[in-house]
Amino acid sequence: KADAPVAVALDGCDLPRGRGLPAVPGRPEADFAHDGQITKSPIRAMTLAALAPRAGEMLWDIGGGSGAVSVEWALAGGRAVTIEPREDRQRNIHLNIEAFGLQDRMTLRPGAAPEALEGLPEPDAVFVGGGASGPLFDRLWQLLPEGVRLVANAVTLETEALLAARHASHGGRLLRMELCEATPLGGLRGWQPARPVTQWQVVR
Ligand code: SAH
Repeated sequence: KADAPVAVALDGCDLPRGRGLPAVPGRPEADFAHDGQITKSPIRAMTLAALAPRAGEMLWDIGGGSGAVSVEWALAGGRAVTIEPREDRQRNIHLNIEAFGLQDRMTLRPGAAPEALEGLPEPDAVFVGGGASGPLFDRLWQLLPEGVRLVANAVTLETEALLAARHASHGGRLLRMELCEATPLGGLRGWQPARPVTQWQVVR
């Protein structure tokens, strides 16, 4: 019905199919303000699963980009600080905080890591989606208490090499995520590969 009510009935029966915010991470890129630098939804879903949010927990989202990882962490009941040096992306982060109504649970820390990490409230999990470097991981190891979950994603060879070296010295789990999507190929279809993403997960 075109004029079906959007309001949620308690039993959900009156909610038109496909309306409302999906309950789990991996929400479409189109749900966020972004400039193309956004973790794509399938990789974001796996990243959030690795970060494993619990209600009330604090995330440091280093290399916030659009803030999509922080948004999905906060929607899962957590609190997040999003660290991002670029002003144009800081604007997108603000737009996303407002659009999702997360003013009480998600804040922007302008600046670059590791310097911008000083004085932040202690995290339960840290995501490195940008700004990965030897000095950043060294500083994290000094700052983070035992038990903090760290997840870092790499798309460049240089960052992948860094994650492989830290995996060798610190342990944890190293994953390589390769995805293809069917796209038009002439009048038929073919698999379009995305750049592989290497992910290091470790508990401090
Ligand atoms: N996870 C994000 C995308 C990250 S793109 C999303 O889903 O939207 C990587 C980001 O890291 C870029 O916006 C870049 O400006 C930022 N960045 C680069 N160096 C950084 C540093 N030293 N500290 C914090 N952020 C950094």
